[in-house]
Amino acid sequence: MSKAAPTVVWFHNALRLADHPALSSAVENAGPVVPIFVLDDEGDWAIGSASRWWLHHSLKSLSADLKERGVDLILRRGKPIDVLCELANETGAAAVHFTRNYEPGGGTRERELKEALDEKSIACKRYRGRLLMDPEDIRTQAGDVYKVYTPFWRSLASQVEIGKAIPAPKKLKPYDGKLTSDKLNDWSLCPTDPNWAESWSDLWTPGEAGAHDRLDDFLENALEGYDKERNRPDHKGTSRLSPHLHFGEISPQALWRATTVRNGDVAKLDADRETFLKEVVWREFSAHLLFHFEHLPDSAFKEKFNDFPWQSDDAALKAWQRGKTGYPIVDAGMRELYATGWMHNRVRMITASFLIKHLLIPWQEGEKWFWDTLVDADLASNSASWQWVAGSGADASPYFRIFNPITQGQKFDPNGDYVRKWVPEIVGLPTKVLHAPFEADAETLKKAGVVLGETYPDAIVNHSKARQRALDGYEKIKD
Ligand code: FAD
Repeated sequence: MSKAAPTVVWFHNALRLADHPALSSAVENAGPVVPIFVLDDEGDWAIGSASRWWLHHSLKSLSADLKERGVDLILRRGKPIDVLCELANETGAAAVHFTRNYEPGGGTRERELKEALDEKSIACKRYRGRLLMDPEDIRTQAGDVYKVYTPFWRSLASQVEIGKAIPAPKKLKPYDGKLTSDKLNDWSLCPTDPNWAESWSDLWTPGEAGAHDRLDDFLENALEGYDKERNRPDHKGTSRLSPHLHFGEISPQALWRATTVRNGDVAKLDADRETFLKEVVWREFSAHLLFHFEHLPDSAFKEKFNDFPWQSDDAALKAWQRGKTGYPIVDAGMRELYATGWMHNRVRMITASFLIKHLLIPWQEGEKWFWDTLVDADLASNSASWQWVAGSGADASPYFRIFNPITQGQKFDPNGDYVRKWVPEIVGLPTKVLHAPFEADAETLKKAGVVLGETYPDAIVNHSKARQRALDGYEKIKD
């Protein structure tokens, strides 16, 4: 009997072994499995700094998991089409398998790869694994693309098929020839000088095992009460699974199964479970929007917003990036982001709104900063969310709804714990003025050791005036 030829498995957006149809079907081919990751970090929206740190550790974990099963992860750098064709030739592979990419240009690149492999009579097979449903499979009754979230959720929840979990293979057959691989450390994905991510290994455990531990922890400690607690940045009320989902260390199907297991179908879920799945489906909605509207990261979905009278203000942008606006909830969020690579969703909305509506700085500037600093930076969720806050997106929050950073702080961080953690300069202020130090009287400030403009910034804009300025700007493009 002739030996089965190898299958190359291209790991790019699904850095896991379980629930991985591209891998499990390679195992069914019965030949050796040649796993590869290709680093292609050039062009627009090349991977940002915080995500590079995550990628390094995620690849380390994937590599160890594969080694335990008998195979080495090959690391190579370049254009995936060139690298994959070369590896397929080198190994005499019968097939190349990978998980589908829904981002702009992904379909074209996959078609080109298929054509190149077809010429060599090598099978090219793409599998699902990133989303709950393919964007082509979910349409309104009129056959259009969904642009409104709630009907999208209803439609998806009524027809999604989750299927049984696919366990990670116990053993993989190695390729018996010699293959070259880059060394992970030589890719210099982690920062060194300065090493701003020094403490991140205490906060995060990139990789498949870390993702499942995070899910178990969430199911045990935060799912009950999620519906209310998810809005509280001072509590650990959300899953923090976003970077794991972004890097494909866990599938959205695994979250769906874990959430519905006790209650059966979606119609019978309690509020906590339903709200959680609805959030997971916001990720899905964003991916579907980006799939159908490829310009989403760069220009406004509602085109009139491209003519908004934005302002260019480098000093204000820098103050926002560094958490020095003088609005404590905004500053706390921006500092949490810089220090941990993550920010709570409620605070993402507040900080984004502040940049766009209080400072009139184009949403694309904030989107770029988040792209570089978030460990969960995701082209679809980031661009759709920034456009949602700006009012320019599909099913967006109306532009004239302007978050008040003082009342938002008071409502969602009522005891001030979140602000005191990230803005220690004002730790001694009484809670009543903590979210608006500029409203405190001289004696209160003195007692707390706060000198506005010296120990903590004075507010860079006045809320009421900034609000009116934003509304005036909106009047100019409204019609
Ligand atoms: P949980 O509340 O536990 O939710 C579970 C999962 O659902 C998340 O892990 C995430 O995958 C998904 N999810 C939750 N909320 C949203 C949402 N509003 N939109 C899309 N998916 C959601 N999320 C990213 O994953 N990457 C980004 O780059 C990103 N950029 C954002 C930028 C702005 C301006 C805003 C307002 C939101 C952004 N989000 C982004 C969405 C959201 O803030 C994060 O997904 C969420 O905070 C992650 O925390 P969690 O895992 O604890 O969420």
